[in-house]
Amino acid sequence: MALAPALSAMQRGGCESESAAGWAAAAAAEEEEEEEEQEEQGRVDAGGSGEPERTAREEPARAPAPAPNPAQPGAAEEGDARVLRRSPPGPSAEPAQGPWPHGKPRSRGRSCKRSSGRAADGYHFVRPVTVDSSKARTSLDALKISIRQLKWKEFPFGRRLPCDIYWHGVSFHDSDIFSGQVNKFPGMTEMVRKITLSRAVRIMQNLFPEEYNFYPRSWILPDEFQLFAAQVQMVKDDDPSWKPTFIVKPDSGCQGDGIYLIKDPNDIRLSGTLQRRPAVVQEYICKPLLIDKLKFDIRLYVLLKSLEPLEIYVAKDGLSRFCTEPYQEPTPRNLRHIFMHLTNYSLNIHSGHFVHSDSTSTGSKRTFSSVLYRLSSKGVDIKKVWSDIISLVIKTVIALTPELKVFYQSDIPAGRPGPTCFQILGFDILLMKNLKPILLEVNANPSMRIEHERELSPGVFENVPSLVDEEVKVAVIRDTLRLMDPLKKKRESQSQQLEKPLARKEDPSDSDLASSSDGSSKPNPDAQLPSICLKQVFPKYAKQFNYLRLVDRMANLFIRFLGIKGTMKLGPTGFRTFIRNCKLSSSSLSMAAVDILYIDITRRWNSMTMDQRDSGMCLQAFIEAFFFLAQRKFKMLPLHEQVASLIDLCEYHLSLLDEKRLVCGRSGRLGVRPPYSGTAQEATAAALLAEGSVPPCPDGLSHSRHALS
Ligand code: ADP
Repeated sequence: MALAPALSAMQRGGCESESAAGWAAAAAAEEEEEEEEQEEQGRVDAGGSGEPERTAREEPARAPAPAPNPAQPGAAEEGDARVLRRSPPGPSAEPAQGPWPHGKPRSRGRSCKRSSGRAADGYHFVRPVTVDSSKARTSLDALKISIRQLKWKEFPFGRRLPCDIYWHGVSFHDSDIFSGQVNKFPGMTEMVRKITLSRAVRIMQNLFPEEYNFYPRSWILPDEFQLFAAQVQMVKDDDPSWKPTFIVKPDSGCQGDGIYLIKDPNDIRLSGTLQRRPAVVQEYICKPLLIDKLKFDIRLYVLLKSLEPLEIYVAKDGLSRFCTEPYQEPTPRNLRHIFMHLTNYSLNIHSGHFVHSDSTSTGSKRTFSSVLYRLSSKGVDIKKVWSDIISLVIKTVIALTPELKVFYQSDIPAGRPGPTCFQILGFDILLMKNLKPILLEVNANPSMRIEHERELSPGVFENVPSLVDEEVKVAVIRDTLRLMDPLKKKRESQSQQLEKPLARKEDPSDSDLASSSDGSSKPNPDAQLPSICLKQVFPKYAKQFNYLRLVDRMANLFIRFLGIKGTMKLGPTGFRTFIRNCKLSSSSLSMAAVDILYIDITRRWNSMTMDQRDSGMCLQAFIEAFFFLAQRKFKMLPLHEQVASLIDLCEYHLSLLDEKRLVCGRSGRLGVRPPYSGTAQEATAAALLAEGSVPPCPDGLSHSRHALS
């Protein structure tokens, strides 16, 4: 099957965003009623199920997915969820009900008495966590099941009062939110685009080539076409037997859209699209690990719980997506066989050989744990595979976070009201034959659909529940919610409070009140749920990886000098202030030279990224300038040591400045540790200052930081 036509046919209508749901208008009418109901539940339903007791008890361990909606095209693909159109969900699967399902004596209007949340015996019952699911789009079904299992309260049409959690299907900007938590970070979608990700990883590859060799060598097109051609030619000249293959991926593509393989930079297909579509061309991994002779990749779910401090969780299970045609190493004859080379579900579903299975260990989509189990039975050291994968995930997130912080401070400047953020990311990973994991891409909106397409007759598909998807994805969403639970502490202390006095109660009706809606004496629904499927990997392994966070520290410097909040680019004055405050100018680097450096690098980056949003120096340009300054100042060291030394020096001078400002008007002692310094004068000054002892500013940047979580 020819690659390009097939791809475009399959993707038609794919990469478009949904319009805002027209059904939102209906929300207003129902909103008031729901708020009243929620208040009632806060008072009497410690479990917060929002359902009559009987319904809660009958909830099966794994709730069946809602009936398929024939109006929904697409399938439970593993690309960006943003690409699939979905008709708005109908009213909530279970109507929100208070403790009186029918004929409830209910005050109408907004003057109704507010619940105090205090029961007759004086306990404060923790109200259910509220989740706005009105923008959840394709993750709605899995989200609904999760909320039900947690016995939280869903607001499917939004809510006039603030919710605790907002679940967005596409981006941070899906709606304006000023409080609570939202499941997207501003800028994440931009950060994981193929070109941006490649750039972010490349910076890390320059600093730590060994640590970042899990990402295939990549070139950004069209800018780096000449470089690509020249480098390939150079290796070929060195080794004429080298017969490489490259994969070309359009920057804006997803689900395999527009991807093709080439053997040579001069391939006509590449030159045909070069100017039209920015893309990444990448070394093709020719020797993937095969199972049943088929190539497969891994979709792993990663929760970025907080940016500052950095907190990362990895789901214990993921999905493995299989090709549907036996794999052969690329040759000019098989280059266009998409079912052999591309593992995308959205492509392979259209192959006649796609196997749907309700078992998690067979078929074209399986759980990753079943693959690991199979490998382990063949003697593979799966602990090593898993720890290599964790390491890849942490390093990738470390590459992404610096710029995310810049986006964050621009969208939610310190001191202004705004939500905190978290995000589930989909990591696509390929295992090489030698079991080394390779990062293919990161999805900001991994599909959370829990149904798959079944072909009824040629070209006619229906959606049916997919047990494999449901098993993995519902656990990921539910446990993300559990980790983000804003009332967890309250609920836990309530549990403890209840445990003792309940035993002494004389009136059984008191204990009824204190019980959860399912009748158990434990109001904490967590107790009935499986153990959390998300495992913390950072800060757990911070000690092993913190040395890699140099760009993060550079981003902190950059943000400090951005000046007016809300911008993402450094103006010439900000750059000059940075140079001055960090004492980087000298007889060999005049301020005029600094200005030229600024203009030079900024102009090049702005023309390269074609980013005309605001003028000034973007973070990558700042990093380039920083590298330049570090190389000049600390000659003869490896790049990462040069950069680390310059960061130390900058942080040191800034901390002195901060101390000076703090100490103004108050006597104190200076106690800032002097970094390794390039000049004797600075070393002497540092040593002198170190003899003082004012409590140190933790990182010298504290005043410019704010919680980025
Ligand atoms: P998309 O966002 O369009 O899915 P990917 O980068 O995930 O783009 O690539 C699509 C598929 O192509 C992957 O699932 C994988 O099977 C294959 N692929 C991508 N990059 C490589 C590579 N460097 N080497 C081998 N296979 C690759």
